[in-house]
Amino acid sequence: MTEIRDLSDPIIRKIHSKSAVIPIGSLEQHGSHLPISTDSDIVTEVAKALAKKCGLLLLPTIQYGVSFEHAPFVNFSIRDKTLQNYLVDLCVSLGQNNIHRIIILNGHHGNQNSLKSISGKISKMTRGKTKVFVFSYWRFMDREFDHAGFVETSLMLAISNKTRMKLARKGLVTQNMTAQQRVKISKLASTNFIKATKNGIWGDPTTANKKDGQKIFCEITQNLSKTVSKLIH
Ligand SMILES: [Zn+2]
Repeated sequence: MTEIRDLSDPIIRKIHSKSAVIPIGSLEQHGSHLPISTDSDIVTEVAKALAKKCGLLLLPTIQYGVSFEHAPFVNFSIRDKTLQNYLVDLCVSLGQNNIHRIIILNGHHGNQNSLKSISGKISKMTRGKTKVFVFSYWRFMDREFDHAGFVETSLMLAISNKTRMKLARKGLVTQNMTAQQRVKISKLASTNFIKATKNGIWGDPTTANKKDGQKIFCEITQNLSKTVSKLIH
């Protein structure tokens, strides 16, 4: 795995197989027990592991995402369109530097809208020369995704020492809800996360642990690298 920003110009120009991964995260509230960088931290580690397994160049993480739904709690957000324009510009520029296969790896739910049509846009602009594939990492695990709940907190315990378990509090638990109730609360959460969850946590982080985090991390990186290796070779 090569972090591209550590390389010099002549070396980058000499690299033969040029496929790259761009991790995208967010900076937003993740309860009292996790830092606002949680999504960016997790997606960076997943991208690192993916780059290693698939021989990709690793680009710097885009840490600002679309998180307005977390207001009035902390969220340092950019608009859908801003993120989309930024990524389009970046991918076109990468293509001009002979990096023609690009994986955009997303780590935050609220970024999904801006990523929807990006592959088609770039393909059109580069006449099919630059291929962009978009994935959200949580689609590569069996468990249901949460926000500062069991899954995210376990992942953070596995990849960093930034978690303060003493401050972890149970948030919104949807297990006993009907399908209809879940749809309704998910819809509310996508526009007003704090109203939906009350304390900004989706799930229950109180039983999160490093061992499960490592297991989930391995599951994600294995499944993801299987999919990606088929696309880039
Ligand atoms: Zn998160």
